[in-house]
Amino acid sequence: MAPLLAHKIGSLLFCPTCGTLLSVPQDGEDTVTCEQCAHVEPASSYEDIEITTRSHPEAFPSALRQKRKTQTKQHKKGDQGTLVSEKCPSCGHLEAYSKELQLRSADEGSTIFYSCASCKHGWRVNN
Ligand SMILES: [Zn+2]
Ligand SMILES: [Zn+2]
Repeated sequence: MAPLLAHKIGSLLFCPTCGTLLSVPQDGEDTVTCEQCAHVEPASSYEDIEITTRSHPEAFPSALRQKRKTQTKQHKKGDQGTLVSEKCPSCGHLEAYSKELQLRSADEGSTIFYSCASCKHGWRVNN
């Protein structure tokens, strides 16, 4: 039976039986034990990896970090609109956020969307 060896992803090693990220062996140790399932990985699995880690300390693959970047990009600022004096037809509050949108053709004017600053009620007015 062939021994199970860790999965290599970039410079990281993952336990072949439970998928847990394995830690790097300490100096003098010739095996690493998985903290989750006690799988024993020979330190020789790390030999070629250690070289890459040393020469490229910034070459750490991080799909997670890239994912987070994409999510931040999609976050829009000032989506609420401008705060104006407008009476809310629902609760009578005198401030609402307004956003003017050119939905129809230019000669027909535009539509202003209001959303109440107090109760979040939304309505629109055609110019
Ligand atoms: Zn394991
Ligand atoms: Zn309101």
